[in-house]
Amino acid sequence: HSEQSWILKRAAITPKKTSLIDIATNRSWSYKQLGYEVKKWVMFLKNCSLQKGDRVAVIAENRIDLFAILFACAIGGYIYVPLNWRLSHSELDYILDDCTPALILYEDQFMKLIANNPHMKAYPITIEILAEHFDVPTNNWNSKDAWLMIYTGGTTGKPKGVILSYDAVNWNAFNTIISWNISSDDCTLNYMPLFHTGGLNALSIPILMAGGTVVIGNKFNPQEAIQSLNTYSTTISLFVPTMYQSMIDTEEFKKTSFPSIKVFLSGGAPCPITVHKTFLQKGVPFKEGYGLTEAGPNNFVIQPEEAAIKLGSVGKCMQFNEVKIQAPNGRECGRDEVGELYIKGKHMFSEYWKNPQETAKTIINGWLRTGDLAKMDLDGDIYIVGRVKEMIISGGENVYPQEVEQCIITHPKVKEVAVIGIADCHWGEIVTAFIVSDDAFNNVKEIQDLCRSHLGSYKIPRNIYFIPELPKTHVGKIDKKKLQTIQM
Ligand code: ATP
Repeated sequence: HSEQSWILKRAAITPKKTSLIDIATNRSWSYKQLGYEVKKWVMFLKNCSLQKGDRVAVIAENRIDLFAILFACAIGGYIYVPLNWRLSHSELDYILDDCTPALILYEDQFMKLIANNPHMKAYPITIEILAEHFDVPTNNWNSKDAWLMIYTGGTTGKPKGVILSYDAVNWNAFNTIISWNISSDDCTLNYMPLFHTGGLNALSIPILMAGGTVVIGNKFNPQEAIQSLNTYSTTISLFVPTMYQSMIDTEEFKKTSFPSIKVFLSGGAPCPITVHKTFLQKGVPFKEGYGLTEAGPNNFVIQPEEAAIKLGSVGKCMQFNEVKIQAPNGRECGRDEVGELYIKGKHMFSEYWKNPQETAKTIINGWLRTGDLAKMDLDGDIYIVGRVKEMIISGGENVYPQEVEQCIITHPKVKEVAVIGIADCHWGEIVTAFIVSDDAFNNVKEIQDLCRSHLGSYKIPRNIYFIPELPKTHVGKIDKKKLQTIQM
């Protein structure tokens, strides 16, 4: 079953190459070592009497051992469920009740988070495992079986377990390797949480499949990130826009030109055009990716030269995916017309865990309904416009917050901005901007004038609030749900 155990083949092909580096604990594993660690965990899980399809939950900060457990689950036929350690007791209890893991592996610091579940079999992740004779467990196996279950953040209702099969994980990796030219020469620095698809699937798993090196950072810190990007001669890395912004704000950023970097990728949220331009001015290739837990997350490809011209475009769909943009009545949109983005391909999730209703709302005739708005230009390049749910309807006109944000962020005194619609009995919704500024700047009129010179009048924010910081989610995305609850 090579789709299940390809990491062991990779370990045999390039045993001496470095597979994983753990910055926090100063550990470095060759592929041979990774193969050995994976086999140890396969033995351990087998000795726990796990059955095919059992869930193995892990709760730990970023550490390279998580990859050994992930690949051991693949070989054993168990479903790997990485948990977000930033969740509260009750949120975690909900997820544990939902996925009923046969086993939970935890870092000591999180023992109290799982203490409410005394019946659950739990072991510390640092448990000593005796190496024994290794043989691949035999099970009835199918490439559509589940390998990975990632819980969504629950921004809309209760968290949902997104099931990713071997096919989904592997096809995302094949697509990524082919479309982004990943090879064994590549090295990435990853600070994205490993309980999130971005940390696992965006670059880490594809690079391990190709025999490259993955450097794992624990807690993001812009100075350490810049230093590590250079120390480990990383060639490609992905960060969310807020991480890029905080790197730009450091002294270290001014002093480096990231000599080893082939390309930086931004994903997970719209990237401010000012961030993109700052990298281009340094001569560092930069491009925007788009993805979601339910598909890939990698879906598009754009060459860096083109990304520098078509700012904000995510490019064309990858070779083994399909995309379409659809109007609310089901008609396919024309060029430059905004509609909802649908994606299809083997990299898609199979279902939400024990939630057929939500699955049926999301997978429609084999297409994934993303909940995001997009448009396609004449060359077939896609632009992400925003989330369907966040589109503002003001006085009957559609306003896409991202367009207004991209305008406001160009003001030199604006550090961060988020635009939302606030309910209003006359207008339906009122375009409202929350701004984090430099130097106590708080000139509402100046921002409105800037918008007026670039945007239609109905898009100009009537309300503008200057606040010290924007609320962020666990991955550093701006938390617009929380902004709605801020009383000004
Ligand atoms: P939750 O976990 O609550 O579902 P989420 O909606 O952020 O949170 P993810 O799968 O983590 O779910 O992120 C996917 C979403 O992130 C996309 O649906 C899209 O709205 C947004 N996104 C990702 N990349 C981009 C991008 N380049 N531009 C704009 N938005 C993006």
